[in-house]
Amino acid sequence: MTDLFVGGEWVAAQGGGRREIRCPADGCLVSTVAEATAADAVRAIAAARAAFDHGEWRTTSALERGALLNRVADRLVHDKATIARAESLDTGKRLVESEYDVDDVVSVFRYFAGTAGEDAGRVVDTGRPDVVSRIVHEPVGVCGLITPWNYPLLQVSWKVAPALAAGCTFVLKPSELTPSTAILLMRILADVGLPPGVANLVLGAGAQVAAPLAEHPDVDLLSFTGGLVTGRAVMAAAAGTVKKVALELGGKNPNIVFGDADMDAALDFALTAVFLHSGQVCSAGARLVVDASIRDTFVEEIVARAQKIRLGGPFDPAAESGPLISAAHRDKVQRYVDAGVAEGAQLRCGGGRPDDPALADGWYYLPTVLDDCRSEMTVVQEESFGPVLAVETFTDEDEAVRIANDSRYGLAGAVWTSNAGRAERVAARLRMGTIWINDYHPYVPQAEWGGYKQSGIGRELGRAGLAEYRETKHIWHNIRPVPQLWFGS
Ligand code: NAD
Repeated sequence: MTDLFVGGEWVAAQGGGRREIRCPADGCLVSTVAEATAADAVRAIAAARAAFDHGEWRTTSALERGALLNRVADRLVHDKATIARAESLDTGKRLVESEYDVDDVVSVFRYFAGTAGEDAGRVVDTGRPDVVSRIVHEPVGVCGLITPWNYPLLQVSWKVAPALAAGCTFVLKPSELTPSTAILLMRILADVGLPPGVANLVLGAGAQVAAPLAEHPDVDLLSFTGGLVTGRAVMAAAAGTVKKVALELGGKNPNIVFGDADMDAALDFALTAVFLHSGQVCSAGARLVVDASIRDTFVEEIVARAQKIRLGGPFDPAAESGPLISAAHRDKVQRYVDAGVAEGAQLRCGGGRPDDPALADGWYYLPTVLDDCRSEMTVVQEESFGPVLAVETFTDEDEAVRIANDSRYGLAGAVWTSNAGRAERVAARLRMGTIWINDYHPYVPQAEWGGYKQSGIGRELGRAGLAEYRETKHIWHNIRPVPQLWFGS
């Protein structure tokens, strides 16, 4: 069982631990992979440190790094069918969605291939003819990269591509539930000629294998995507060595629909906003904030359409949505729905498992609509990360903004209206990292992604996504030094 990639070699976990990976759609065994220990993580950190301090990668030209990233993209295109299938088996998501994800991963590698040489630095005008002063950007060093299970390879690519573009080395710890595509990516990186030790992979439970990445003094940057509670623990663990920390955490994202919106489009997108990938999307529009003037008909139609969503496994061509990731996660979603009802929400549809016997072996949960929600309810404030829509109502623009912003999170949100002035006013007042106007969910690697408030620190993608992996250095060169005689002769 040699699934750990350390110093350019495929190695077994110290202690020989193993973990079974099972498909959430039917529980079938997908693979058995190595379960690393903290000692494996420390070994991987040492390999990444040695490759950064003594290897050639950090000083390769941006052109070479960009070319390598493009070769990775080419291989991803070539291996798309294999990668998409592996992603679907690990996550249970529909094959077509995994195929879209691979396309997105390709775009991410191509984007960072093109930006590797951007913003190389600048000359500073000091007003001193005897001084050459310049700003240079350097790779930050060894990066610890920790990623979640909902978009396994995509989340990995948001970190690995800019880290490599910047000239860093890294240790990646993907979610223990979905390691397969990270293993495939490591194989590709080795095949396209990445020097040994630049990319390292450890697999296993976060508390054992990822925690050392946060704590270790030889890790210069910790980039984490996952839940708020884990993010807080990672940040606290990183504080001991004052490393750079980038956090992409959860969201409880409002989808605001005004009475003058295009109703066909708003209805259609309100469903995709929350039920795509069974709600296991950090930017899911899980809070519908709807104008009182259209509320009854709008919610009625959402409920009717939600009840028709066809659930099924990754390779069922009729399926429109898949299972949740695990039994434990389904239990958590159920607890949020129960709490919502106990706190006064009205269950309009869903609220439990489907009764179709064909789905009995998977972790399916019915698309659920909770009506009459209020901001203070647990199901409105906390991220269920399941197919659960909480409906709140407003009567004017100020109230819509107040409800939408009433959250510890600030990842994303949307506003639907045919009044362009209102759309811009509301977008300007929402405290979130991404705002969609008359749309929901699209993103491009050219644009920054990340959260306000407790949705995170820093940005992925875009120019800021590359800057996370760079240090900034000021070099002051006195080309005609003369004694200053500050202290006399
Ligand atoms: P999680 O926090 O449970 O796990 C994320 C990663 O952290 C996993 O690799 C896990 O093994 C690791 N981990 C667990 N305990 C750890 C510890 N003590 N120290 C270090 N690492 C540890 O999250 P999840 O359930 O895998 O993913 C779902 C969450 O991710 C949701 O909250 C979702 O909103 C968030 N997410 C955010 C974004 C974004 O862009 N903001 C994108 C995708 C997912």
